[in-house]
Amino acid sequence: QANHQLLAAQEPAITTDGHRFNIMANIGGLEDVSAALDAGAEGVGLLRTEFMFQSHAELPSEDEQYTVYRDIAAALGGLPLTIRSLDVGGDKPLLSYPMIEEDNPFLGLRGVRLCLADDKLFKDQLKAVLRAAAEYTNIQLMIPMIALPSELRAVKALISICREELDLPEEEYPLAVGIMIEVPAAVFNADELALEADFFSIGTNDLTQYVMAADRGNPAVAELVDYKQPAVINAITMTCNAGKKANIPVGMCGEMAGDNEMTELLLRLGVTKLSASASMIPALKAKVRRINYHESRENFQVQPA
Ligand code: PEP
Ligand code: MG
Repeated sequence: QANHQLLAAQEPAITTDGHRFNIMANIGGLEDVSAALDAGAEGVGLLRTEFMFQSHAELPSEDEQYTVYRDIAAALGGLPLTIRSLDVGGDKPLLSYPMIEEDNPFLGLRGVRLCLADDKLFKDQLKAVLRAAAEYTNIQLMIPMIALPSELRAVKALISICREELDLPEEEYPLAVGIMIEVPAAVFNADELALEADFFSIGTNDLTQYVMAADRGNPAVAELVDYKQPAVINAITMTCNAGKKANIPVGMCGEMAGDNEMTELLLRLGVTKLSASASMIPALKAKVRRINYHESRENFQVQPA
């Protein structure tokens, strides 16, 4: 029985009628890779790079970051690694970086906004990713907190500068660059963003917080912080439709991705990749294997908690 489960863990997640879905892991560093692989992850859908910044007294250098990304890519043995660029600000301060006091940090200089405001900080990370990706082609880059197409274009312009400085031309060393969809403006701009992004990954933790205008860490508004709210489901639906129209993959890496009661709805909306903490992966795969994709969708109306 144990042996059987171990085998099933490493097998792909395919519905009873043959649709395959990718089940990936969210990780914070190299130390999480073996548990992710043991759980049956088909790669990493979200590497939260802020942990390595938060655990250092000083900012990690380009070289240090390169070594970490390379080692994780190597440990994954060719399975995909999605590296998310630094997402600090909001509730995630940095010891090693002078953060400005803000009245509303969740609405402030967070994620890509902070990175675009500090070229040096961002270029160190982009160069580390480009160097690792030049050696390990399983690497892709994901940008958090994008609201506008112009932000994504600014990121790409900075990547081009880094490529020139490193002499890593795109034709020889391609790197897919996708974005998180977690800001409501990104949902409303999804058609245009889909023309410039190589993939979407929906971050339901922040998307829910921002759609519902309810702090994800505040128990007083916990009832509003619910990804089953129709407003959030509508935002996810719009994102999936934009992805389909532009023919780019749409994944999900927030908490909702790990909730196997949501799996069938998400797959039907067009999400093709779910990334969750390792402990959720066996149940997600088991769930996918019970789904018949062609069945009627009637029983998938979700109710807010
Ligand atoms: C999210 O916002 O859903 C997400 C995956 O990112 P984080 O939880 O790190 O903000
Ligand atoms: Mg987020």
